[in-house]
Amino acid sequence: MYLHYQLVTLNVLNRFGICDRGRIMLKAYEDYKTFLIDKDELRRRIRFSRINREALTHTILKCVQVMRANPAECRYGESIIESCAEMMTIGDEDREPEPLRFLNFPSEVRRMIYQYCFHQKAKRGGTNDVYLARKKPSCGCAYFENADSPLERNELALAHTCSRLHEEVMSYFCDAKTLKFSCACVMRKFLEENRMLRGAIRHINFHWCGPAADQSILQLGSLHLKSLTVTISRATTKRITAREEEFRRYFTSKKRGEVALTDALGIDELLSLCGIPNVAVQHPDRLMAPKLLTSDRISLENMLQAKLTLPRKGE
Ligand SMILES: [Zn+2]
Repeated sequence: MYLHYQLVTLNVLNRFGICDRGRIMLKAYEDYKTFLIDKDELRRRIRFSRINREALTHTILKCVQVMRANPAECRYGESIIESCAEMMTIGDEDREPEPLRFLNFPSEVRRMIYQYCFHQKAKRGGTNDVYLARKKPSCGCAYFENADSPLERNELALAHTCSRLHEEVMSYFCDAKTLKFSCACVMRKFLEENRMLRGAIRHINFHWCGPAADQSILQLGSLHLKSLTVTISRATTKRITAREEEFRRYFTSKKRGEVALTDALGIDELLSLCGIPNVAVQHPDRLMAPKLLTSDRISLENMLQAKLTLPRKGE
């Protein structure tokens, strides 16, 4: 069988007077035979174009005329007729084309779709932050039932379609969103329950409070964060470090004094973090507990920015 490039090389198409559309179809047949296009694509080109179908019939008639006039051209004519006949058979096949599969899209296109999905809320006037706690935590910390940006029920629907998509969608989700936690306990629980996701988390904003704030903050050391926002309030200084507790057993003056931010439970663990390029300290929003002094916020932010942005050991 002669394919398009051979027919062109041997000048057969010119000798047979094959029309432009006929040549296009013979090239499509060659592409099909050399796996450049699949059967469904060839079928679409024949089935949905009256001009292409007519070109096939016209090409067959041309071949018959040339073969009748010049029997020496029969081998080429037969080959072209065979190609056209096979294309017409493919065009008549009743099989439905393969469905368009999402995972067959290039990754750039999939990312554009994720971007569209995850930024809809921000476009509607929301933020890219999401609160992940849906239920009231058992730790007794403040819980923001009417938090400004709860995770919407259908926001991660795409991630639940299959395991391969889950990994990809969650990775994009974590890169695009800041995960917000109403206390350190909720953050710890989330990190423990989502071990697969930990490697993908990039942005965290947590309210520094809770009975196990030190242990929770310690877990942040194993993440690869791009940004960390620490929200401080009076709840932050409700619990103190073991060292400060020891001091207070003996220093009666300390007992009467107000707890300083530098003695809050978790301060040592917070200062032990590193390798986080963007660090901020903020006061709670209007839904949360009363604020601490602004000077404390600025001092802590300066300190964390100086220490936490340092590279990790060995990097
Ligand atoms: Zn808590």
